[in-house]
Amino acid sequence: MSISEKIKKYKEDLPKDVDLVAVSKTKPNEDLMEAYDAGQRIFGENKIQEMTDKHEALPKDIEWHMIGHVQSNKVKYMAPYVNLVHAVHKLKLLKEINKRAKEENRVINCLLQLKIAEEDSKYGMGADEALKILNSEAYKEMENVKIVGLMGMATLTEDEQKIDSEFAYLKVKMDDFSKEFPELTILSMGMSGDYQIAIKNGSTMLRIGSSIFGERNYN
Ligand SMILES: *Cc1c(COP(=O)(O)O)cnc(C)c1O
Repeated sequence: MSISEKIKKYKEDLPKDVDLVAVSKTKPNEDLMEAYDAGQRIFGENKIQEMTDKHEALPKDIEWHMIGHVQSNKVKYMAPYVNLVHAVHKLKLLKEINKRAKEENRVINCLLQLKIAEEDSKYGMGADEALKILNSEAYKEMENVKIVGLMGMATLTEDEQKIDSEFAYLKVKMDDFSKEFPELTILSMGMSGDYQIAIKNGSTMLRIGSSIFGERNYN
């Protein structure tokens, strides 16, 4: 199937209340434009420099989501245009995003990344840490960032039950937190290999790359 056929198929198959982030990291602008022409408007990248280059080259009605680990010293480059930062993993990063958003006269929406997988390689904080940030004076004083939900990545495994229980855990935390913080409405979970399990567990936003654009080549 071509990229545009894939996009159309996802749009038909996904529940209407689930948003699709097309993860286009490493892919050339032509591939993004093919998805764009098929109606896709949300694109996800994991490197700020690459996202900024694409933002400059491509149509201005694209929503850019930073889905990867963010280095504080690069926040300023995306602050003028980024729509959602998925993987905030500490208060210090939130402070930097707030500072740079203020310079741009913007409010930047962010998700807190909870660690739900076993692997050490996956960033994220514990649920207690996330709650601490939401309740902190430091966050309450930030006028240019808004935490609008949670994000998580399941363990890379064939064991679907394990993935299921990790996503279920994140959904429980989402429901807990949103009682106290009703502005938390986005639950970003699910990738090419596990998105069906994520939808079953209440995902509202999928981040799908390889099954739309094909395998990535990092060389
Ligand atoms: C690359 C990436 C994805 C997409 O992964 P696929 O398996 O290609 O769908 C989703 N989320 C994050 C954080 C990523 O880095």
